[in-house]
Amino acid sequence: MMSITEAEKNIVQFNSSVKKEIINRIVKENGCPLCSMVMDFEFDFLAKLQHKVANEENIRREISSEGGFCDFHFRQFKKIAGGKTNILLLNTIIEEKIYSKDPSDKKDNYGIECRICNSVNEYEKECVKNFTDILRQEENRNKYKATNGICSVHLKQADKIIADENIKLWLNNTYKTQIERMQGDFEEMSSHKSFYEIDREKRKLINVLIEKLAGRKTRGL
Ligand SMILES: [Zn+2]
Ligand SMILES: [Zn+2]
Repeated sequence: MMSITEAEKNIVQFNSSVKKEIINRIVKENGCPLCSMVMDFEFDFLAKLQHKVANEENIRREISSEGGFCDFHFRQFKKIAGGKTNILLLNTIIEEKIYSKDPSDKKDNYGIECRICNSVNEYEKECVKNFTDILRQEENRNKYKATNGICSVHLKQADKIIADENIKLWLNNTYKTQIERMQGDFEEMSSHKSFYEIDREKRKLINVLIEKLAGRKTRGL
């Protein structure tokens, strides 16, 4: 008999909760459900991380030895963490950079291995994989078709891993249909002389279409 290890059980549970959440967001949200999940994951990750950075010296050392964060995440971190936490972390990075100037140290002093990027990318991959899994069911495809759908960034990622050629074609065609559906609204909005004459609800389509075309990395803008 095959026995399921604790780790395998956790993976199964994780995937089933991700699938449930994707279906939830397909129904509830205006924009890309995958961008939305990744942004929430990132925010939670940053919130927990800033707490650890503030309180644990060894975490500050670890992050410093990784070279800190990439530009985008340094700035996200700066927004979420308190001023003092930012200073503590930056001071540890300075120390790390100075002490590792020893020429026998082979470590790349100025390279960055952003742990936030790494975790977010891994989670994003799982989300895209689970999204393609749920599309095998017609019921889910019908739900999805009625929405504004995923962004072009996630479409490309999903396209790469879908094995079923019919679903692949369907997803790409649906992407186009979802944009075409907005055409009438954008024509109508273009016909107004002033932006402020345009219905508030309709104006929201501006963000929806930008996200559809380019994906979204932050809710802050
Ligand atoms: Zn997206
Ligand atoms: Zn990063």
